[in-house]
Amino acid sequence: MKASTQVVRAGRADAAHNIVNPPIYRASTVLFENYAQIFEIRQSKERRLYYGRNGTPTTWCLADAIAELEGGAGCALFPSGLAAIATSILAFVRPGDSILVADSVYGATRIFCDSHLPKIQVKTIYYPPAVANIENYFDDTTRLIFVESPGSQTFEMQDLPAIAKAARARGIKILADNTWASPVFFRPLDFGADVSIQAATKYVVGHSDALAGSVAASKDAWPAIEAAARHLGQCIGPDEAYLAQRGLRTLAVRLSRHQESAMAVARWLEKHPLVTRVLYPPLESSPGHEIWVRDFAGASGLFSIVLDEKYKARIALLYDSLKLFGIGASWGGYESLIYPADPVRTAEPWPARGSVVRLHIGLENPRDLIDDLENALSLMRA
Ligand SMILES: *Cc1c(COP(=O)(O)O)cnc(C)c1O
Repeated sequence: MKASTQVVRAGRADAAHNIVNPPIYRASTVLFENYAQIFEIRQSKERRLYYGRNGTPTTWCLADAIAELEGGAGCALFPSGLAAIATSILAFVRPGDSILVADSVYGATRIFCDSHLPKIQVKTIYYPPAVANIENYFDDTTRLIFVESPGSQTFEMQDLPAIAKAARARGIKILADNTWASPVFFRPLDFGADVSIQAATKYVVGHSDALAGSVAASKDAWPAIEAAARHLGQCIGPDEAYLAQRGLRTLAVRLSRHQESAMAVARWLEKHPLVTRVLYPPLESSPGHEIWVRDFAGASGLFSIVLDEKYKARIALLYDSLKLFGIGASWGGYESLIYPADPVRTAEPWPARGSVVRLHIGLENPRDLIDDLENALSLMRA
């Protein structure tokens, strides 16, 4: 089945009384019929209601749907994307290990690695995202590689099949942050990753009204992910799970519109005299374009532009003149957003001198978005 069919159908087996969407079960305590049933349910190999933290039909509906979409053996759910990332790393590392993390990784992932992993004697080494030979970074302590392709803010593509090939030969695990593409456009597990993580907060929820994270894993990696999520008390609230499964049903159709509009806006920006670069992998001029063409089925609506250095002092004018772009963090909802990007680099310096501006292209008419940008950019130039 194609992803656009899967998003509509997957995970709906548990919907009660033939109601289309799953009911919202609010549960901590689950009552047992009698004394013996406590042990029967505890020992059961099947999925049984036991305690709210361990899941309810509301959360199972979403977990099953994402597992199917990502092609995983299972999927664990989290209260945020960051909780999903931190738990996935903790699932595999031991004292004395080191991990390799893409230098273009999401900022909060970097902060987690730098602030918490040293406490358990795990070292983080950052590699340039366009690395040609990842094995040059391997040593006997390398436990896992954390890939994010395209990277946050600057959108460098990574050659996941090449990284996976090198890692597999050494038993190194690969964790991929797949938030940008979602499994509709890219399935990291099919390209050699062991774990695919999403900040479901973004496109899955799709309406800027809930936080959620998901981790789908291969058969080999699933037991470690499932245990880490359970032992660290990770779970998702019933309303968040409900909203995420509801968002999922329209994910494919929303993404295709985000893509179409983002492409129109990006192509227009590419020709604008104030814009020196458009960092968006589906553009031929964007670094890593050939990897995107080879591996991805589409692009979402998030990209960055680099402005001419001459206009650095006037950058606030761009943000403050736009009428249709909200100034806000996060993305993946229906409305367009603008936010400053501030690439933090420790493996290699970020080369551009001009301001980097991240745009999320929402579901508005792209012509209106271009007019809005045209007006704001011309005010900057005036
Ligand atoms: C937003 C984001 C996250 C974190 O998700 P939250 O739900 O905000 O914690 C992780 N990775 C990427 C690429 C993101 O954009």
